Amino acid sequence: MKRLALTACLAVFAPMPAAADAPTPPKPQALAPGVWLIPGGILPKRQPDGNTVIFAAPKGLVVVDTGRHRWHRQAILEFARAQGRPIVAIVNSHWHLDHVSGNPDLKRAYPGAKVYASNAIDAALTGFLPKSAEQAKPYLGSGKLPPETEEDLRADFATIDNGRALKPDAPVTASGVRSLGGLKVQLNLAPNAATDGDVWLFEPKSGVAAVGDLVTLPAPFLDTACAKGWKAALDRVWATPFRIAVPGHGAPMTRAQFNSYRRAFSSLTDCAASSRPKAECAADWSAATADLRGADPQEAKRAQGMTEYYVADVLRAHGGNSAYCTAP
Ligand SMILES: [Zn+2]
Repeated sequence: MKRLALTACLAVFAPMPAAADAPTPPKPQALAPGVWLIPGGILPKRQPDGNTVIFAAPKGLVVVDTGRHRWHRQAILEFARAQGRPIVAIVNSHWHLDHVSGNPDLKRAYPGAKVYASNAIDAALTGFLPKSAEQAKPYLGSGKLPPETEEDLRADFATIDNGRALKPDAPVTASGVRSLGGLKVQLNLAPNAATDGDVWLFEPKSGVAAVGDLVTLPAPFLDTACAKGWKAALDRVWATPFRIAVPGHGAPMTRAQFNSYRRAFSSLTDCAASSRPKAECAADWSAATADLRGADPQEAKRAQGMTEYYVADVLRAHGGNSAYCTAP
């Protein structure tokens, strides 16, 4: 998710509690031997960071997604320094700014690092991203935004202005086995899913799959999505013998948890295509994913609010897909 479409996001996120704002870099967590998670998150009044997954490879580190904020990429760089190993490959699950904004700084620190991503960012750099920036610009200096949100927007605009630096060195144009820094992985292209081209990775030795925003909580972030392709991508992940699925946002999942999400996603798109009230679709989603999102009651409220928005304003308003879906 990128959350630049301000009108919608502020409506959904305005009631978040205030908190002292001194962001510290997130702490790496071991997921399996040679695999770590640097958790993303959404701080109050801030735009989100996606999760980062790091794999040890024979020649260095493979980093899946690079977050949005400087403190997130700082955590990645500190981890690499502590390991004493170079970052040799960066995989971007998709082009949303909470997953790619750290690319240039990581490449500056490790010039040998190669970025693997789909070409979907090309259309985003001339369409969605500058368009969202244009829509958001009038809010800057208007006094309507908290300073943290303003700071995030300014950083996003700078990232978009320097958008060429986000493009892949090695475009992922098909699914297949790839060697990244000597580590064998399945690098998969999911066309017309959360974006026009999502990439997800399965590393067979650890059984870890990094699935990006094909899995997000508390709601599927459908801003740029095609519903059918997304559903198909979840089925393809499910057919892979992963042990742990790391979502783009939220905690790592077991197979059973991933399957709950997959079923809930399918029911949600069915509900959105029906004439049932949006509140019912959202309530069903929220109940089906309650075990996945943790006990914080704020999260339940956000699940309901965000899902209602996605059903009515994104899917139903555009014939079942987001306005940005280009699938036939
Ligand atoms: Zn995201």
